[in-house]
Amino acid sequence: MPELPEVETVMRGLQARLQGHRIVHAEARRADLRWPIPPGLVARLTGARVIGFRRRGKYILMRLEDGDSVLLHLGMSGRIVLTPHRPNAATPHEHLVLETDEGWRVGFVDPRRFGAIDLIPTAREDQHRLLAALGPEPLDDAFDAATLSAALAGKRTPIKAALLDQSVVAGLGNIYVCEALFRAGISPRRLAHTVAGARAARLVPAIKATLQEAIAAGGSSLRDYVQPDGELGYFQHAWKVYGREGEPCEHCPGPPVCHGISRIVQSGRSTFYCKRTQR
Ligand SMILES: [Zn+2]
Repeated sequence: MPELPEVETVMRGLQARLQGHRIVHAEARRADLRWPIPPGLVARLTGARVIGFRRRGKYILMRLEDGDSVLLHLGMSGRIVLTPHRPNAATPHEHLVLETDEGWRVGFVDPRRFGAIDLIPTAREDQHRLLAALGPEPLDDAFDAATLSAALAGKRTPIKAALLDQSVVAGLGNIYVCEALFRAGISPRRLAHTVAGARAARLVPAIKATLQEAIAAGGSSLRDYVQPDGELGYFQHAWKVYGREGEPCEHCPGPPVCHGISRIVQSGRSTFYCKRTQR
């Protein structure tokens, strides 16, 4: 499931080919994904110039001239494929297709259909029902230790679950929460309300650095943020704890001091961490 760095990388890939360009053809192949696709979307897109992009949490907003934005969410399995135009190049599960004045073809592919596409006035992006309740952007300066402690005050859930709550901070998912907690030396089991003071002051920069490194990896490993097969945004990145149960922990000297990365299950999702350094 794409998290903030993957979504940012997808957005930059779209930006590289679409910004400043006109959409000469648009086609919706279904009436709905997770929710209905707005009936007027294709007409609004056809002939429109793309003037900018914005990411909010895991959502991409593609801004059109004349004041509308297309909201895209990749859901669980969504991906965007960008290719030079080839007639009849349809991919299975491709639900929305755009073609630009330069001949680039953009396909929104989503086999499980948990993704979303919507059309909203740009001036009211933040009031969209999917965006209105989102917490702060983790990379904004406004997201600091005081903001985070205030959001966690009174929360008796584990910090792992609290950070997955998109109203506490936007855009984090299972992978980057595990990575940020490892970097900050905070146990995923610690009760959220106890992450204040020095712990919150360690966690905020750990979240920012984890995301920034992943975004940088996405940019540097891909040409224009595009895979050789045209898929946007997914890149190879080496996790320090995620998916590494039993492997040596880079913060510890090894057995008998630390037996490597542990895996536990919290709220039905795997958590990876070092029991020795994360308290
Ligand atoms: Zn360790």
